[in-house]
Amino acid sequence: MKKVILFLTVLIVMLGLFAALEYTQEPAEYLQETAETTPTPEPTPEPAPTFDPALFSDTDSLLIVANKSHKLPDGYVPADLVRPNITCGGDCRMREPAARAAEEMFAAAAEDGVYLKISSAYRGEDYQSALYWGYVGSYGVETADTISSRPGYSDHQTGLCADFIEGDGSMNGINFNPSFEDTASGTWLREHAHEYGFIMRYPKDKQDITGYAYEPWHYRYIGVEYATAIWEKDVFYSFEEYFGVTGGDYIEEPPLG
Ligand SMILES: [Zn+2]
Repeated sequence: MKKVILFLTVLIVMLGLFAALEYTQEPAEYLQETAETTPTPEPTPEPAPTFDPALFSDTDSLLIVANKSHKLPDGYVPADLVRPNITCGGDCRMREPAARAAEEMFAAAAEDGVYLKISSAYRGEDYQSALYWGYVGSYGVETADTISSRPGYSDHQTGLCADFIEGDGSMNGINFNPSFEDTASGTWLREHAHEYGFIMRYPKDKQDITGYAYEPWHYRYIGVEYATAIWEKDVFYSFEEYFGVTGGDYIEEPPLG
């Protein structure tokens, strides 16, 4: 019996020693172990910015949206269209704030040795209608929808955007082509347009979101603050993504011609 008690006593003492050893590990090692097992808290995600929906439908707003899921009011004509004093091939009327910003931008580009040129800016609903139905006649609705906006859905009808061209504007595989991005104008615009309030409206690989394939020549005025915020997110960040506005394909059947 005594032997058993002795054995148990020795066992308890040994267990006690083991336990004591566990806790007398080097403090640094012990801390490290705790640090490894404590999960690092996930950074709280930034809440998505929310905007007053009126900003995107109010015709006075510089953020008015025209895309395949946002139609402009029937017969909408901006009240403040003016002709900016810039090099332009066609109808270059724009809403006053966009026109003044374009003049400033053209002057700044010229100082960098880049001579910007616009093919066209504002397009009225009638003009867009003729263009769209012309394409429908030649290629059918499906193809027409990929190359032209339906009347009332065009960014050009807002008077806040413009198509830029390089050189004489001839169809030389550069103008109205993704390779416009490599031209002097395309490069300068991608790097500096936001400083004057313009954004690339149809960025690369965003067709599902904007409804349009890459158009490095089409720039839209939204004001310096927002244009810079979008550009700082990413050169190819889209209007729809930033403002949380729906885009993508048409949700309605085409109108009858
Ligand atoms: Zn355009």
